[in-house]
Amino acid sequence: MAVTKSAVPFLDLPAQQARIRDDLRRRLDAVLAHCQFILGPEVAELERELARFCGAKHCVSVSSGTDALQIAMMAENIGRGDAVFLPAFTYTATAEVPLVLGATPVFVDVDPRTFQIDPAHLRRRIAEVRAKGTLRPRAVIGVDLFGQPADWPALSAIALAEGLFTIDDLAQSFGASLHGRPLGTQADTTATSFFPSKPLGAYGDGGALFTESDERAALYRSLRTHGEGTTRYEVLRTGMNGRLDSIQAAVLLSKLTVFPDELIAREKIATYYDQRLGNTLTVPARVPDSTAAWAIYSVLLPDDIDRAAVQDTLLADGVPTAIYYPRPLHRQPAYREHHDGAALPVSDHLADRILALPIHPDMDEAAACHVCDAVVAAVSRRK
Ligand SMILES: *Cc1c(COP(=O)(O)O)cnc(C)c1O
Repeated sequence: MAVTKSAVPFLDLPAQQARIRDDLRRRLDAVLAHCQFILGPEVAELERELARFCGAKHCVSVSSGTDALQIAMMAENIGRGDAVFLPAFTYTATAEVPLVLGATPVFVDVDPRTFQIDPAHLRRRIAEVRAKGTLRPRAVIGVDLFGQPADWPALSAIALAEGLFTIDDLAQSFGASLHGRPLGTQADTTATSFFPSKPLGAYGDGGALFTESDERAALYRSLRTHGEGTTRYEVLRTGMNGRLDSIQAAVLLSKLTVFPDELIAREKIATYYDQRLGNTLTVPARVPDSTAAWAIYSVLLPDDIDRAAVQDTLLADGVPTAIYYPRPLHRQPAYREHHDGAALPVSDHLADRILALPIHPDMDEAAACHVCDAVVAAVSRRK
């Protein structure tokens, strides 16, 4: 399909790179000069800066968001016989990690307006697992989906009452805040990702853990380096190779200097989309008293519209789109055998109707206007 030359990039990493080029070069050259490629000085500096950004006591950088989740769960000895509650409408990794560790994911439905995990359904799912008696409820992973915060006050209250460990999967929402506080300290532990397309992205894989606990931070540092003790060749526990490299830390330090401005720029686009598209289709409901990082801006198409046809029309108009996620996790071939069969109607519906529009900090109002004109035209044409 021909794409016109007015094409709006879905994400514009080259434009971002041009904005930070000199600072980035200087930091990368420093790594090339000292050659401490793994856990070099940039990694320690990044951990300090990220902890400060989130207002967290400790930040432990790791090799990816998936490894951050895995280390968080290994540290709690989550494994066989344990139930880990998580939303059915999220990225694969959230369910993959409990399964890798031998635990069982218990899928929870999401809120139809904010797309975040539904606390009322979580409560019912915990009761169901307790009634059945085959699994031990151990943890809940709240995912801050698309850039907005999950309902952490509700999730934390349920977890406290039920004796569950809380993990914040912040992979898509680093930089967002709830009740005036940056995400990173809402749960017992927080795991984030620096995959290149996340709000704060490296030039490769990367991730981080945030915790208020001195013991957990020490455990995470040990687990990311094969379970090492105080000396390098003392192995205290089974760990993994989960370290961040210095080049990624240098990239992230450079991007962190412009990150607050980028959050503002993303919010401007999201607000513009809300205003221009809110009458034509369903735009994401704002989580009250929060700010968002807008990794992804997804709308819901009306039920009577062919989504694939809308995507084709938009692409021909220079507007690329994406679908996060075309299949909820309980319907994935690899995971459905682990699903207890509970109905998850909201996740099913979102997977059928959701559509992500371009959003990034280098988008100007003309581009956002073009996206909205194209979306309104494509949807009206097919009504
Ligand atoms: C991206 C993502 C992850 C995994 O992060 P990686 O760095 O790609 O391993 C986990 N959870 C969610 C919700 C994500 O979007």
